[in-house]
Amino acid sequence: MRNRRAVLTATATAAALSLALTACGQNSEGGSKDKGGDAKGGTIGIAMPTKSSERWIADGANVVKNLQAKGYKTKLVFGEDNPDTQVSQIENLITQGVKGLIVAAIDNKSLNNVLQEAADAHIPVIAYDRLILGTKNVDYYASFDNEKVGRLQGSYIVHKLGLDGGKKGPFNIELFAGSNDDNNTKYFFNGAMSVLQPYIDKKQLVVRSGQTALNKVTTLRWDGTTAQHRMEDVLTSSYRSGRVDAVLSPYDGISIGILSALKSDGYGSAGKPLPVVTGQDAELASVKSIIAGEQTQTVYKDTRELAKVAASMVDDTLKGRKPQVNDAKTYDNGTKVVPAYLLQPVSVDKANYRQVLVDGGYYTESELK
Ligand code: BGC
Repeated sequence: MRNRRAVLTATATAAALSLALTACGQNSEGGSKDKGGDAKGGTIGIAMPTKSSERWIADGANVVKNLQAKGYKTKLVFGEDNPDTQVSQIENLITQGVKGLIVAAIDNKSLNNVLQEAADAHIPVIAYDRLILGTKNVDYYASFDNEKVGRLQGSYIVHKLGLDGGKKGPFNIELFAGSNDDNNTKYFFNGAMSVLQPYIDKKQLVVRSGQTALNKVTTLRWDGTTAQHRMEDVLTSSYRSGRVDAVLSPYDGISIGILSALKSDGYGSAGKPLPVVTGQDAELASVKSIIAGEQTQTVYKDTRELAKVAASMVDDTLKGRKPQVNDAKTYDNGTKVVPAYLLQPVSVDKANYRQVLVDGGYYTESELK
């Protein structure tokens, strides 16, 4: 019950945010009700992966806002984590005559045909946050330094356990990764492992489950309940004695599932404190959990900035200007190196959340109560 409630709370928060945005007229799923654009530049289609996580709702709203400020109309759709739904949504956007597309892919390899249709209609495509693979028909990529996200998570664990301050361990750690169809997953995991692996090699960190390879630790569609079940299984099979000291989690929704499994197993008491648990996205439920002393860390990525970059990329492309990029070599999608603009992620915990998230205007103090 308790486990389920935690996951439901996160979902309910995302749903509430979605409702609020709909009420503001910013969420134009499947329609063109957006205010503010006079269609000077035409309509831009925005395809986001899901509403089950707050970040994508905020991303969608922020992209809409930035494009409207530049004089565009927008059509914003959410694919509910179903690759086929996303393909048909993008097909519809093309049919409706959008002038540009901003796409955060659900499955990085499922969009090749539909993006050919976009290219045939001379519609430029910006890959948003997640790179789209195996097609030349993606013009630019707006994201964060994804490898650094993982390094921030790995370094946080090392620091929190005191391994960089002379403690020798051994400490027990379990590893979780994101969805295997998201190109970011390997960057996050490899970044984290670049920091953790040397300690695993020296046996200062021990993965009792033995599950260390990426293909053993991925979490399809970043689903918190899937992660919760895996954590329950690992606790049952490998921790009947001893305790887990740290869990590498790539995303806040996964962290919430992991914490539910841990709490059901008796973690979170004086005699059995919760392990260090990382995360990503600074979602409201997780920031509250950090303040309450449950989740330990998250990686904050300012989606307001990402939206600004993506909106400028599509605007520049449509106006025949060259968008600003700061990485022209890392993101090879198998067919071409996609020119990218990468923003910087920031590690957040109980010590700096106020400075980063509240002073930075991402949340108000009262939202975090
Ligand atoms: C994003 C992360 C997010 C994850 C799950 C990734 O592609 O980069 O910010 O946590 O998807 O939605």
